[in-house]
Amino acid sequence: MVVGGGISGLGIAHMAARAGIRPLLLEADGRVGGALCSHLFETPEGPFWAEMGAHTCYNSYGNLLQILEELQLLDTLLAKEKLSYCLLAQRRIRSIPSQLAMFELLVALPRLFSVKKGGSTVAGYFSAIVGRNNYRRVIGPALNAVICQEAGEFPADALFRKKPRRKEVVRNFTGSGGLESFARAIAAQPRLDIRRSVVVTGIERRDDGYLLHAKDGARFETGKLVLAVAPDVAAPLLAQTEPELAAVLSGIGMVEIETVAVILPADASPLEPLAGIIAANDRFFSAVSRDPVPDGRYRAFSFHFRPEGLSRESKLERICEVLDIHRESLLGVSERRNRLPALRLGHDEVVRRVDELLAGKRLGLTGNWFSGVSVEDCLIRSVEECDRLIG
Ligand SMILES: Cc1cc2nc3c(=O)[nH]c(=O)nc-3n(C[C@H](O)[C@H](O)[C@H](O)COP(=O)(O)OP(=O)(O)OC[C@H]3O[C@@H](n4cnc5c(N)ncnc54)[C@H](O)[C@@H]3O)c2cc1C
Repeated sequence: MVVGGGISGLGIAHMAARAGIRPLLLEADGRVGGALCSHLFETPEGPFWAEMGAHTCYNSYGNLLQILEELQLLDTLLAKEKLSYCLLAQRRIRSIPSQLAMFELLVALPRLFSVKKGGSTVAGYFSAIVGRNNYRRVIGPALNAVICQEAGEFPADALFRKKPRRKEVVRNFTGSGGLESFARAIAAQPRLDIRRSVVVTGIERRDDGYLLHAKDGARFETGKLVLAVAPDVAAPLLAQTEPELAAVLSGIGMVEIETVAVILPADASPLEPLAGIIAANDRFFSAVSRDPVPDGRYRAFSFHFRPEGLSRESKLERICEVLDIHRESLLGVSERRNRLPALRLGHDEVVRRVDELLAGKRLGLTGNWFSGVSVEDCLIRSVEECDRLIG
């Protein structure tokens, strides 16, 4: 049994099914996908998707590609056009290279060969290899945009882990209805039993497994259990059965991101086609554009705001300023609250302790809080847990 129907939970359910087990997956929401969430704006010409969570997958996502291949979806991948990210600094959109201090960069870059990622924070490592001013003005905001949070204290080695690329697959891709279509395709397999709108609220240990309690009073028994939820969701669920593990998990921080996606006519904004806007010292970290999957009629932008409780009105005002459009150009607005782990130095030790406490148990933990937050990082953990629990 798997709790949580984001890519981590769907991934391990798929792997279990591949191994001949029919898993039951319980998802709190009415839809599967978690942070793979593609909103469909209604237009006279039909639905137009915009991402409310993750935006892009890469040909280095080997486990995701294997799953998509097994579902015969590799031919349906949509290549994303190569467009640039721009920087919004001092209220103007600028190219990233134009904002880098080249002399500082040239002096700092050789440190790439001497400074170690392991044991360094993002701020420590990247300031060393690009220079402190370049980090503060350009690279820091770009890295904040990558993980939708203040990235400075994040462990440097949890970002951009090198993974082998499958060169025959397009480099950057999405699905035909956005990334959520991958989650829906995994869930649609008849060999998986998926129950939506089931909020798991408690876990008891039984001699031969676990008994789960749901908010609506339903109970589920299982021999082996995998939790594919955030650490601060897993911790209270495990407080009775695994108090030591729960205590370790409750030390892992989480951050919120307030995402607002807007759709507008393709000719409404004077901005040239771009991959997205990185904001330096603004109320939002980034605005990711749908331009890499172009459409002659519409454009969409997903603004990832800092969790500062800015009102909807103020967010829309800022969006219109940045896109240089009138309010009437907004044809639709969608909002979502996302959460991501805020990993800190020493997280490797936390994961080692978690694995020690899980050893020999019929309990698994997966998610985006092990080696990194990307979709493929989730699946790498799911593979490891599937191997440990099923072999
Ligand atoms: C704004 C944003 C942009 C991103 N961009 C990218 C990107 O471009 N590329 C990339 O690779 N990664 C990206 N990521 C990261 C990646 O999308 C996530 O790390 C990943 O999708 C998380 O998957 P997950 O299954 O671990 O967690 P989630 O997707 O959070 O899924 C957890 C699931 O558990 C369910 N759940 C919670 N509590 C319970 C309960 N009590 N009972 C039952 N179910 C429960 C939730 O409803 C949810 O569906 C981005 C993330 C965000 C937020």
